[in-house]
Amino acid sequence: MTEPLPAAPASTAPPYDVVNPATEKVIETVAMADLAATDAAIARARAAYQDWRRVAPADRARLLRAFAAAVDADRERLARLEVANAGHTIGNARWEAGNARDVIEYYAAAPERNMGRQIPVQGGIDVTFKEPLGVVGVIVPWNFPLPIAAWGLAPALAAGNTVVLKPAELTPLTALRLAELALEAGIPPGVFQVLPGHGPLVGARFATHPDVRKVVFTGSTAVGKQLMAACAAQVKPITLELGGKSANIVFADSDLEAAAASAPGAVFDNAGQDCCARSRILVQSSVFDAFMARFETAVAAVRVGDPALEDTAMGPLISAAHRTRVAGYVPEGADVAFRGSVPEGPGFWFPPTVLLPGSHQDPAFTEEIFGPVVTVVPFTDEADAVRIANDTDYGLSGSIWTRDLGRALRVARAVESGNLSVNSHSSVRYSTPFGGFKQSGLGRELGPDALDSFTETKNVFISTEG
Ligand code: NAD
Repeated sequence: MTEPLPAAPASTAPPYDVVNPATEKVIETVAMADLAATDAAIARARAAYQDWRRVAPADRARLLRAFAAAVDADRERLARLEVANAGHTIGNARWEAGNARDVIEYYAAAPERNMGRQIPVQGGIDVTFKEPLGVVGVIVPWNFPLPIAAWGLAPALAAGNTVVLKPAELTPLTALRLAELALEAGIPPGVFQVLPGHGPLVGARFATHPDVRKVVFTGSTAVGKQLMAACAAQVKPITLELGGKSANIVFADSDLEAAAASAPGAVFDNAGQDCCARSRILVQSSVFDAFMARFETAVAAVRVGDPALEDTAMGPLISAAHRTRVAGYVPEGADVAFRGSVPEGPGFWFPPTVLLPGSHQDPAFTEEIFGPVVTVVPFTDEADAVRIANDTDYGLSGSIWTRDLGRALRVARAVESGNLSVNSHSSVRYSTPFGGFKQSGLGRELGPDALDSFTETKNVFISTEG
């Protein structure tokens, strides 16, 4: 170490009771960082950066591969933690732990490929370098704690930055485990730190602290706007992954069985707490009734219950407060087409709910609900479908169901959204870029270009004259 890492002071913030949303029982009490502890962690990250940026690319790659291997060996434990802390189904949680491993492994290849360019100029040679930024602050929401942490930390570390990561208050457990695994894998102390704490205190400090050189934020559009404004004071770069209200567009010429059978998963997965949830289903009028009949059967088959059971498709919502917020979109007298079921007893349950909104101005049709509530409306033709799909401030994802390849491409190009799938709903792959149009975000995560978000381009001219 070029300078010793500053010691962390004891935090004065009260500890936080982490609750299992399927049982409503406290499962762990977690220490929360206060402002002094946050500043100390940033100082440690800054000190650790001086050495981490100089670690040879091949060694940094090796350390990241060891980190990925440690996550791989710990997948079942990480998955069980997420089932208990976030109410994710065990099947989903295993996928999420595997995704965290894959993302770290994918970016382990980056340090040795983080290439600049040689640009032809007169009188010398001109080369560019991709320099790391310094300390990166990553702020993670509660809906996908593990993958979203990995999407920020892996490319940031690969580029030679150090990371302070703030998990959501409700779901700190898997992030804390990731930090332990990083240390076990040989990532030096201070390079990757996890700081449980309150958003307006710890998260906001990432924007105002001059030694944090970049913020990665995933969460609500309202908080994202505040952070962007705070970062502006220091011209600090920020990546924003925000909300969504994505359209699932079903044309009459589609495979209606497949479209209806897959529609519940596209919106009720993770109990609808998914920024990519296809929460507006747009169905061509001529097949509306046929689609709804099939969709009703598919919704009735969604198994809601104990997320630890292998065949559960949907678990609880994250908290009592969030359930109250979601329920606000389904008031007495709401146009409910049909609903699924929920278990009795403790747990923040909410049934899969299908609404036929009275108008396109209905808040259930325009606002992000972030729960298992979907709205279905008819459209007349291709132009009408695109108009309705784009009539929103959001633009994160979406799906298009049609057998006409030309139409699929026309509509995919016309919908103002960052991630579209045709005849499927899969849109997040670690090797492809992910992010939103309009108020769904700024910048892209994942894929081959993510390192550009964690580096500055430096241009160096070397004279060959004299
Ligand atoms: P949130 O904005 O309330 O919180 C997100 C994170 O920000 C948490 O860690 C929280 O502690 C922190 N935070 C809260 N206030 C802050 C402040 N003033 N300054 C700095 N940090 C602060 O959002 P949430 O309720 O945890 O998550 C749900 C939202 O996240 C939804 O809107 C969803 O669409 C969005 N989301 C987007 C993506 C994406 O990739 N686009 C992915 C997941 C979730």
